Amino acid sequence: MNQFKDVFLATGSRPLKRAVNSQKCIRAGGKHNDLDDVGKDTYHHTFFEMLGNWSFGDYFKKEAISWAWELLTKVWGLDRTRLHATVFEGDPHNNILADDEAASFWKNETDIPHNHIHLGNKKDNFWEMGDTGPCGPCTEIHIDLTPGKSGGKLVNKGTPLCIEIWNLVFIQFNRNPDSSLTLLPAKHVDTGMGFERVTAVLQGKNSNYDTDIFTPIFESIRQLSGAPAYTGKLDDLKDTAYRVIGDHIRTLTFAITDGAVPSNEKRGYVLRSVLRRAERFGRQYLGFKKPFLHELCSTVVSGMGDTFPELKASTETVSTIIFEEEEAFLRTMERGDRKSTRLNSSHTDI
Ligand code: ATP
Ligand code: MG
Repeated sequence: MNQFKDVFLATGSRPLKRAVNSQKCIRAGGKHNDLDDVGKDTYHHTFFEMLGNWSFGDYFKKEAISWAWELLTKVWGLDRTRLHATVFEGDPHNNILADDEAASFWKNETDIPHNHIHLGNKKDNFWEMGDTGPCGPCTEIHIDLTPGKSGGKLVNKGTPLCIEIWNLVFIQFNRNPDSSLTLLPAKHVDTGMGFERVTAVLQGKNSNYDTDIFTPIFESIRQLSGAPAYTGKLDDLKDTAYRVIGDHIRTLTFAITDGAVPSNEKRGYVLRSVLRRAERFGRQYLGFKKPFLHELCSTVVSGMGDTFPELKASTETVSTIIFEEEEAFLRTMERGDRKSTRLNSSHTDI
């Protein structure tokens, strides 16, 4: 929402009251960093698309909640008894009231089972961009994937059996430098739905990696490595390597297309870490000996290039940048390997 901060603060404006979009999100560094989870679970990526709808001083909680519900249950036909909503429980220490408004819209504007409306704390249900700036309570929609629909108690417990799919943020406050809150001149909406998660739900898969977003990339990994095929196990390092590489090549392709380059500083350093993580998993668990990541760029572009034409325009440049970075890293790793072999053998001599 950074790009609209001035609109929320009323220091800038746009010629629109409403918008819908897909944001390219990278969470591999900084405040939001999911890098270490990626590969180990089924639903966190370093790069993902966040689908959203926005209101700039136009519609507010009532519409945002009832439209989200309509899309999920009427248009997409999801089972309403699998959906759960959380609303902000309030924070007396900071003088913020509970979001009773949102709770009452869930009860009165939708047919969600009332015992599927849960209270959530400041960490999960009060959205802040940083230490200062526009912020406000949010209401999240989670899906219960347990076979017996018993996942209500798993909401916000960090399990793949019950995952958050959509977060509706109601921007009504500004957090000041002295950490006090003031009401903004107008009220706004910013929602974010994870495209890969909702795709898995709509395709009836238990893992984002089993959707057609990832399967073509996994097939290319299999062909290039000659390793056994992906079997979807969370405790299998070969499968973890497929997930890490499938995820990281999307991050690298999108970020480099948008002008970032691996380096030792800031976002460049994030990219370098992502590339090296993928490289290490490939070498260790899939038997890659030579640079391979750059060869996966074209598969990412075939899957995503119609929606993001900028990918098609720079495939070759991106793949060359990745290749050079891979080569440099592999050279360093090989030097390290030789050194440790020498050390080990001199130990044996002694
Ligand atoms: P979680 O608790 O599952 O990490 P979150 O609270 O960090 O989610 P938000 O910051 O509210 O998520 O982001 C909005 C939406 O974006 C989420 O509802 C989810 O669908 C999606 N999302 C968030 N993080 C990721 C990620 N790392 N990979 C894929 N999708 C994500
Ligand atoms: Mg998160």
